[in-house]
Amino acid sequence: MATIREAREALKLYFGYEQFRPMQEQIIDRLLHQKDVVVLMPTGGGKSVCYQVPAVVLPGICVVISPLIALMKDQVEALLANGIPAAYINSSQTAEQQYQIENDCLGEKLKLLYVSPEKLLSSGFMSFLSRINVSLFAVDEAHCISAWGHDFRPEYTQLKALKQQFPHIPVVALTATADKLTQKDIQGQLQLHDPQVFVASFDRPNINLTVKPGRDRFNKITDFISSRPKQPGIIYCLSRKATESLANKLKQNGFNATFYHAGMSAPLRARAQEAFLKDDVQIVCATVAFGMGIDKSNVRWVIHYNLPKNIEGYYQEIGRAGRDGAKADALLFYSFADVMNMRNMLQDNEGDKKQTELQLVKLERMQQFAEAAACRRRILLQYFGETMQKDCGNCDICRNPPTTFDGTLLVQKALSAIARTQERANMGLLVDVLRGARNSQVLQAGFDKIKTYGAGRDVNTLDWHRYLHQMLNGGLVEMAYDQGYTLKLTDQSREVLFENRKVQLVKFDDVKQPEEAAVKARPKRELIKDALFERLRATRKRLADESGVPPYVVFTDSTLQEMAAERPTNRISMLAISGVGAQKYERFGDTFITAIIDFINEEQAKGSKLKGATHLATFEMLQQGYGIEQIAANRNLNPVTIYSHLATLYEQGYAVELGKFLTRAEYKAIAVAIAKLGADAKLKDLFEELKEKHEYYKIRLSVAVYKKENTR
Ligand code: ADP
Ligand code: ZN
Repeated sequence: MATIREAREALKLYFGYEQFRPMQEQIIDRLLHQKDVVVLMPTGGGKSVCYQVPAVVLPGICVVISPLIALMKDQVEALLANGIPAAYINSSQTAEQQYQIENDCLGEKLKLLYVSPEKLLSSGFMSFLSRINVSLFAVDEAHCISAWGHDFRPEYTQLKALKQQFPHIPVVALTATADKLTQKDIQGQLQLHDPQVFVASFDRPNINLTVKPGRDRFNKITDFISSRPKQPGIIYCLSRKATESLANKLKQNGFNATFYHAGMSAPLRARAQEAFLKDDVQIVCATVAFGMGIDKSNVRWVIHYNLPKNIEGYYQEIGRAGRDGAKADALLFYSFADVMNMRNMLQDNEGDKKQTELQLVKLERMQQFAEAAACRRRILLQYFGETMQKDCGNCDICRNPPTTFDGTLLVQKALSAIARTQERANMGLLVDVLRGARNSQVLQAGFDKIKTYGAGRDVNTLDWHRYLHQMLNGGLVEMAYDQGYTLKLTDQSREVLFENRKVQLVKFDDVKQPEEAAVKARPKRELIKDALFERLRATRKRLADESGVPPYVVFTDSTLQEMAAERPTNRISMLAISGVGAQKYERFGDTFITAIIDFINEEQAKGSKLKGATHLATFEMLQQGYGIEQIAANRNLNPVTIYSHLATLYEQGYAVELGKFLTRAEYKAIAVAIAKLGADAKLKDLFEELKEKHEYYKIRLSVAVYKKENTR
């Protein structure tokens, strides 16, 4: 039987990861012991590894049931890129193709086979399965089995046939939906034997949460995107029309944007999606129809142009950002007008009254989230039944905590105005009264005669709205949604008015977000790292296009970021980067090493032009007896840079001893290539000409020697 140690080795070899995430190891251990398991993990939590690693180490084939054809294709591509033989079989293929894949299964040529539930249940497929050696069944998107869930698929209920026909093969059911009812349904419907249920935290700590007032959205959006050049992102809009007009406006302003909604023809939609997956288009303005069933791991940000209908939807949509674990941003625009629109829409709906009620309550929770003055992540996770021990530090409130002040007087003014207008004013009108506006509405109602008219002149309109929202959230006033949204007093209002209860209000200063300030004051090192990251990203795009896969299949953003920080220039250090497995190293390792070395060389060339003499500092340290590695560490440079200093020094006639780094025989071999391609040839070309047998630094040194010998 396969052991967890073998599983760990497979994780490193195929996926390039050092260790399992919490729970992955326990889940895999259970599966290796032939036990059934239910896995509830958020999107991006690492569910796939839970069955892909056992699939690799167990004898036989893991059969994955997956409802979305696009996802199957993505997963298979990613597996193949990692060197794991996998295929999918579904109705989109010809009979011939399907037959070929079945043959590969019989010949034990595959480790994973993805099938749609329809295919699984089609005639003859079960008996085909009984003829192959199935190691494990993985039921992906398992919430589809539950009529309670939001994505019920009747064919999923037939999956109980699996346990009936193959009682001894372990089943793992996976989903990103956390609620209890769904979880029970999964166990029951699949007839799992005493399954262990793993519920991971639904926290996505890498996603930064920010809410901004909806005023002036377009400019805020262009600022936001401009500070994130080339970072792929999604802007969710309420209507189809809005997606189109926003995308067009962005394009007019020079951004690389497109739109996506369910009203477009299938080919147009496919084209938009494909362009986004391949990083050909940076921004998609979309309705919530977009994003389901796409696996793009390098979505770096999600903007909600309007307030989402409920927290479930919001969380699912922002969850499409940062699946690779690297930093990502979620920005939500909030305006009270949006809430009103949505309320009206819901209330106009001729439908189940109970449903409408429920949706209104959910909208209210969403609104409270947007207006909250406490850590946003805490509120979100609390909504899903998870309690955080401390504030997250990665939301706008945590970064820029609002200060409070004694707002009792202001609140009293507002409440008194409500009382004196006989609770007949909605928020807009009330603010007009408080600020002493002379418009027809105020005058007609005679509100300019009341005692509190103009009593709140010193507070601007926007701030009044904010304070009133806080009062609403705190239960100090109520809004009569069914009476023209007029404001009403509550028991708590009376405490403030008549019992001298004190109220603290939150002050929202429009101070600069530390995040924005930080961008301007980025240390130089960070900027250089970004430049290298951009270079690596371009390399990734080229390789991806050559192999016809999306860029994130080549390497994820977090892998590239680590490369940009660590600058691996040889096999060992490249393989130490998280996400670089053996297969990917074989296919892409050298290309990325070359890109890094080129970058280092250019940087060095620039540096020596600027400062003139960075190689002289190296020379000094050499004279003091330091080794290359020591100098590199000491000067915070890459060893490759130090070698290239060495070469420069040699060329300029300094007394440096190259014999330690380059033998005569090596030089002779390398010189043949230099003679052929010329001393000014690119190192990369020489490297390839030499069949990649010699390290870059040796080639660089040989060029120096060659130049010197041939100019005598
Ligand atoms: P899910 O299916 O739960 O949405 P994935 O399986 O796609 O999540 O994993 C999300 C990301 O995390 C992928 O880029 C995956 O390669 C990465 N990942 C998974 N397990 C690990 C691990 N143990 N160490 C590092 N990265 C991991
Ligand atoms: Zn927070």
